[in-house]
Amino acid sequence: MTQELFREDATLLHCEAVVVAQGEGGVVLDRTACYPLGGGQAGDTGWLIAGGQRWRVTDTRKSKEFPGAIVHLIEGEPPVVGTAVQVEVDAARRQAHRRFHTATHLLCALLPYPVDGCSITETYARLDFHTDEPFDKDAIQAGLDRLVAEAHPVRHRWISEEELDANPGLVRSMSVQPPRGLGRVRVLEVEGVDLQPCGGTHVANTAEIGAVVVTKIEKKSAKTRRVVLGFAGRGG
Ligand SMILES: [Zn+2]
Repeated sequence: MTQELFREDATLLHCEAVVVAQGEGGVVLDRTACYPLGGGQAGDTGWLIAGGQRWRVTDTRKSKEFPGAIVHLIEGEPPVVGTAVQVEVDAARRQAHRRFHTATHLLCALLPYPVDGCSITETYARLDFHTDEPFDKDAIQAGLDRLVAEAHPVRHRWISEEELDANPGLVRSMSVQPPRGLGRVRVLEVEGVDLQPCGGTHVANTAEIGAVVVTKIEKKSAKTRRVVLGFAGRGG
């Protein structure tokens, strides 16, 4: 089991940790600030540092072998079990994920359809909605700009599974159900805008999303409309 420091603080970019296992292309740490691929959001990259040595973390994944463990994929020979390391998260990549991820919550508020796919990366985010309604790119852009400018606070909290069951409308995504069996579920609230279960990393206020542009609207299938976001000034 890896202690998930990123769940409580998405701004945390460093922590101390110990290598507890090797395998699956990298190492498992007892605790980490690195977010593992999941919920549509890409994994963090970064570095592990011990003494004068640095190991590149090329991706972060949930262990397939050990439930609850997080694997840091390592370039080259990984540090041995028992090594105390300093974890360093790639700050620019994390910040891009936080901004795009929070922007996808704003899209959920603007487009009241079930979500059936999501991908959040360093350079773009895309969200698929289950609907055959036509989407108006300019109206979505205007809505995003407004919600960013309104500077809504963003925060997470934990609710019981009973509370979640009593509010089935909280689950917006058809493809990704919140993890069950832990007794509690993390919900993300964009104050006055959106509330849904989510384990990802977000900014603390919609103003921090900054200039995000709707780069594309696609009809993926008869019943799926895709919205693609990019950062302004990066050529989409
Ligand atoms: Zn989220």
